[in-house]
Amino acid sequence: MKLPSLSKLTRTYVLALSLIAFLTIASIIALHQLILTQSDSARLINVSGSQRWLSQKAALLSTQLVYASTTGERDQFRRQLQSTLGKIQENHQELVSGAPQSNLPIQLSRQMQAMYFSPPTNLQVRIERYTSEALDLANEPVDLLTPDNPHLTYLLQNTEALLESLNRIVSQYQRESEARVQRLQMLETASGGIIILTLTFLGLYTFRPLANTLLEERAQLERANQELSYLSSIDGLTGIANRRYFDQFLAQLWSLAARNSEPIALIMCDIDFFKAYNDTYGHLQGDECLKKVAAAIKRSLQRQVDLAARYGGEEFVVVLPNTDVKGALIVAESLRANVESLEIPHHSSSVTQKVTISLGVAIGLANPTVLPSTLIESADIALYEAKQNGRNCHKLASSSS
Ligand code: GH3
Ligand code: MG
Ligand code: MG
Repeated sequence: MKLPSLSKLTRTYVLALSLIAFLTIASIIALHQLILTQSDSARLINVSGSQRWLSQKAALLSTQLVYASTTGERDQFRRQLQSTLGKIQENHQELVSGAPQSNLPIQLSRQMQAMYFSPPTNLQVRIERYTSEALDLANEPVDLLTPDNPHLTYLLQNTEALLESLNRIVSQYQRESEARVQRLQMLETASGGIIILTLTFLGLYTFRPLANTLLEERAQLERANQELSYLSSIDGLTGIANRRYFDQFLAQLWSLAARNSEPIALIMCDIDFFKAYNDTYGHLQGDECLKKVAAAIKRSLQRQVDLAARYGGEEFVVVLPNTDVKGALIVAESLRANVESLEIPHHSSSVTQKVTISLGVAIGLANPTVLPSTLIESADIALYEAKQNGRNCHKLASSSS
């Protein structure tokens, strides 16, 4: 499967996150509007309701004014009627053009405008007429305050119709606010749905491939690292472990064996008369010979834990963890024999007419106070002795016996 590039995925999730941010802001605004709508419509319904009550009060005060028996009572009813009318006008103003403390400018809908300003409801005209008739009555001289006063007659005949109009206005307010709340709720639900869809899309098409891409890149990096570390531990010519790897291996084994008090056997191998081999057969042939000897040495090792490495030039080293003298000598002999049995002609050798190796064997009991290099030195000395002994043989270091 081809994984999308990181930059493309980054672009996609930045876009998706911006969309979510936008929708969240839209939801917050919608919620805010919802709260404003609720409180505004509650206020409007409240004002409209109070208009009903004030109109009834005005009608009652008008009657009480006409039937008042004393001047004091009359003056009191006049004042009360005037103040009630003042409130009706104030409320009406608020309903038509919005109260100063309102959060929303009151936009009257077309239906509301029709109810306020056109027949049959025509509330604007009704209220104006009603308040003006009531005011006229409140200012009427005493001798005209009679039960058949035309202003009072108008008021008594039209109170019911005015109340009816106000009822209709309140119902219309309620309907409109409910519709608005419903629209905002739909907007909320839609933006919530889109947010969930966007998040699902993000999860499926962005974050999952993003994680896969990162994991795949990490795996590639790990593979490259492993390859690199493998290559850096292999000898280019012979394909067996190199000196660097051998040094690490021995150091680790040394500290591990020190804890477990296990013996480590080290065998140093050196091709006999190799300079002469090169001189006789040429360097390239010499390289081929090195490869074959290395392979034979490696083949001779039976256990997984044993290591064969090229120590340098025509010298090889074998490490046998947890191996005693007896075991090490058996391996050394098998190494020697296996190289000899390769039957690589070597006419310049003073030992036999084929390629052979000499081996120095050393056994050490790992100890934190002693360096692993002492084991190498012992094996090297033993190797020297093997050379002295006529080559194509192994020699056990004196410290190991
Ligand atoms: P001895 O039996 O005492 O070990 O004698 P020798 O000739 O093997 O030892 P000496 O140290 O004199 O020579 C080692 C030679 O190994 C010299 C060098 O040219 C050869 N040699 C070292 N590395 C390589 C290599 O990578 N390829 C080839 N072809 N020859 C190498
Ligand atoms: Mg040598
Ligand atoms: Mg040699």
